[in-house]
Amino acid sequence: MTDSRHFEPGRAAGLLRLRAFLPAAGRDYAARRNSDYGPDRRDNVSVLSPYLRHRLVTEQEVLESVLARHSPASAEKFIQEVFWRAYFKGHLETRPAIWRRYREALAGQVAALGEKGGFRKAYQAALAGRTGIDAFDAWIAELEETGYLHNHARMWFASIWIFTLRLPWELGADYMIRHLLDGDPASNTCSWRWVGGLHTKGKTYLARPDNIAGFTGGRFSPRGLAKEAPALEEPPLPAAQRLRLPMSGPPDGPLGLLLTEEDLHPESLGLDRAGIRAVAGASAVDGRSPLPVAEAVQAFTEAALGDGLDRAARHWGVEAVRLPSLTAIALGDWARRHGLSRIVTAYAPVGPVAEVLAEAAPVLARQGIALIEIRRAYDEACWPHATRGFFALKEKIPSLSEQLGLGAGAFDQGDLFDSGSGAPGGFVRTTEGAGQAG
Ligand SMILES: Cc1cc2nc3c(=O)[nH]c(=O)nc-3n(C[C@H](O)[C@H](O)[C@H](O)COP(=O)(O)OP(=O)(O)OC[C@H]3O[C@@H](n4cnc5c(N)ncnc54)[C@H](O)[C@@H]3O)c2cc1C
Repeated sequence: MTDSRHFEPGRAAGLLRLRAFLPAAGRDYAARRNSDYGPDRRDNVSVLSPYLRHRLVTEQEVLESVLARHSPASAEKFIQEVFWRAYFKGHLETRPAIWRRYREALAGQVAALGEKGGFRKAYQAALAGRTGIDAFDAWIAELEETGYLHNHARMWFASIWIFTLRLPWELGADYMIRHLLDGDPASNTCSWRWVGGLHTKGKTYLARPDNIAGFTGGRFSPRGLAKEAPALEEPPLPAAQRLRLPMSGPPDGPLGLLLTEEDLHPESLGLDRAGIRAVAGASAVDGRSPLPVAEAVQAFTEAALGDGLDRAARHWGVEAVRLPSLTAIALGDWARRHGLSRIVTAYAPVGPVAEVLAEAAPVLARQGIALIEIRRAYDEACWPHATRGFFALKEKIPSLSEQLGLGAGAFDQGDLFDSGSGAPGGFVRTTEGAGQAG
């Protein structure tokens, strides 16, 4: 049994969780996933998000192993939830203005916290778990302790933040991304916008006391919640744009591999087993926010990176080092030390890592070092379907599954059951329900 309050950073721990969850991924998940039984009982959901977010375990292998055990019909709900992640990732890739706008608004609100005493007090009371709303205050404590919240709790939390506490959604999203081990620019930002009525324009999610009491087994009876959830508004966003092309470089030349927290399973990137001369890793975890990122998040991310580096060193039989920072200077020094003219890395989706790499690439190019990205077939297949609502992607799940060979049992089940491989919704947006945003 895995400890549901603690997340061991590393691929082996992710695979153990996947293995423990597999029997429940079918109809059981569909029936029980919306209940939040509390931090000591998470057997109704997979709790795989910190592993999927960093691709310690990939969506491809989670879906393959679920489909090796369940029929597509009985695992339909779980499969859809996994695709919600691809949907939000693709949505932000094709609408990067959402991220830029969020970051700009957040900077303004952080500045306002320093200037407006009343606003700062309300914000601090919320973060200290002193709102008097029993459920909300308990979720603050749970998030700080565990780095995780159930999906339904995240939805209620965001709704209470926006519509009852009337705090800016960007500050709430920032608080979550600083404390969630799975904190992700796409899933987090888009989910907050979904609750506030910005993602599907005008449709909001209202947290209701009876719904919270019912789906938490009566653990909470929150009082004083807003009875209405008027949609937030914003100026129109630019139209969806084409996917950014992965950065590319010459086909030949000494090659190094760079790992970041965006993708920590380099073994499945399709790289030649003999082609890598050196491996390096660095994270941009501090870039999640202008405010301090929780120590537990930093520790998880850094340890996950260490796990990726250890596996890469073994896989390619070369030295793997941690760089002092994810900067052009550190990357250039490392490349020169190993005589590299090319650095290959997994495609960095919209977020802090992509921002740093976009700045570093031209500096490295001037030194004769090309930065090359590899985008996974899974992302390549899913993201183009994420420009509108989830429904458009959901409709494609059968054809995507076929295209990606998800039902073909291509995933090496030996890996899943070999612990020696390392150290070890449909929330309907009525304002009621349980279901999601995934
Ligand atoms: C306000 C808010 C903020 C959120 N912030 C994040 C975030 O920063 N990072 C993050 O990974 N998820 C986020 N989510 C989505 C979702 O809550 C989590 O992915 C899920 O709760 C993780 O628990 P699990 O692994 O047990 O999920 P399961 O129910 O077991 O689902 C399996 C996997 O599917 C994916 N998934 C499930 N639901 C969603 C969803 N609604 N959206 C996107 N992917 C989903 C996750 O990768 C998850 O691990 C947020 C949701 C809300 C409402």
